[in-house]
Amino acid sequence: MATTTICAVATPPGRGGVGIIRLSGPEAVAIAHVMVGDLPTPRVAALRTFRDAAGDAIDEGLVLYFPAPHSMTGEDVVELQGHGGPVVLDQLLQRLLSLGAVLAEPGEFSQRAFINGRMDLTRAEAIADLISAGSEAAARAAMRSLQGSFASAINGLVERLLAVRVQCEAHIDFADEPLTEAESSTEALAMALDQIKADLVETLRLAESGQRLQAGLTLVIAGRPNAGKSSLLNALARRDAAIVTDIAGTTRDVIDTALHLDGLPLRVLDTAGLRDSDDQIEQEGVRRARAAMEQADRILLVVEEGDVIEPAALDLPAGVPITRVLNKIDLTGRAPGVVAGSSEMVAVSALTGAGLDALREHLFTQLGHTHEEPPFIARRRHLLALQTAAEDLDEAIAALNDGLGDELVAESLRQAQDALGRITGTITTEDLLGEIFSTFCIGK
Ligand code: GDP
Repeated sequence: MATTTICAVATPPGRGGVGIIRLSGPEAVAIAHVMVGDLPTPRVAALRTFRDAAGDAIDEGLVLYFPAPHSMTGEDVVELQGHGGPVVLDQLLQRLLSLGAVLAEPGEFSQRAFINGRMDLTRAEAIADLISAGSEAAARAAMRSLQGSFASAINGLVERLLAVRVQCEAHIDFADEPLTEAESSTEALAMALDQIKADLVETLRLAESGQRLQAGLTLVIAGRPNAGKSSLLNALARRDAAIVTDIAGTTRDVIDTALHLDGLPLRVLDTAGLRDSDDQIEQEGVRRARAAMEQADRILLVVEEGDVIEPAALDLPAGVPITRVLNKIDLTGRAPGVVAGSSEMVAVSALTGAGLDALREHLFTQLGHTHEEPPFIARRRHLLALQTAAEDLDEAIAALNDGLGDELVAESLRQAQDALGRITGTITTEDLLGEIFSTFCIGK
């Protein structure tokens, strides 16, 4: 149990009708008591006046009290719901600090919830992913993870691995059994491992698609001026009733757009931002944009009939796969869709919308996504752990098939189990926890 009592504003910065401060830890009740008087009945909201050291009112609002262990963090938690103004919230926070609370680190409430066994890592991460979801599909997948779909998929695999390990170790103990029995149990073990491997690979596939929803994919949109880049972007976005927003980047030039394509969050980088500039900040922005482009998942090169453009002429990042979008076919009468004989060219009209369905399908396929909504959201670290577990399982299967001895099989199975345990947090290190929770926002 943590010894400090942490506090933070849990609502976003700025002005709003309500601003919430969360207080959690062993002194939460005592500190809140000084400031608001008697605490209300647990889990029942009551109106209180929030007072400063002189006894003057700073604000008034609702107080909620969640005694340990039935709270978000598993500790005593008090929530103060005051008015959502930065000055008043800051005064409330200062008062709590003067009474002995400390400011929470980003994600510290969730980290305490994890440490106190209130939720496993996949659920803690799902909360962060739900908050930052870039599309409805991502939000739904995060919610399913929050309800435990990912944890139960992983725990199911762990339990089955454990069962095989137990059998395998029993096998070690009864090495003197007659050969036929040993052989038949080896066969049964091999079958069980193959089945677990197949289900692990399927979980990995679903996790990859969940990770695409979580992180989104990056497209670069390029082409000559007036080729129809903005029109294409708008047409793709509008068709999907997506929200198109400009992401405030480091550069003064807006080159970054977020949209989603049938629920797949996409970040679209516009090469128009890549202009030469003497402005140092803008140069840095351009440098970062270029670095992001080099990491992009695909380039959409918008061309018109008759245009012959080599990617080099546009100074596009090398090594990123390219789809040529032949635009303005309403002027030429060319048939919409994937151009015959070229799987990487799609004919469209951004103006009439012809060919956009085919372009969307092409993108989904090329980006490795499908319309199927994954049963959970996932992060890169989950994919790495699943891949490690799959490799360990392969080693176990090989050791079994090659008759290298049950000890080796059991050891590889243990490693696979550990890799999976890192996903839910049954196996963790300080570093891992620090890395995970530091990306959360403050007050969560
Ligand atoms: P950008 O400079 O590449 O972003 O190009 P814009 O999207 O601004 O389009 C340049 C011009 O081409 C505008 O006048 C658009 O209306 C027009 N345009 C874009 N797409 C089409 C299309 O599919 N058909 C026709 N006929 N005109 C288009």
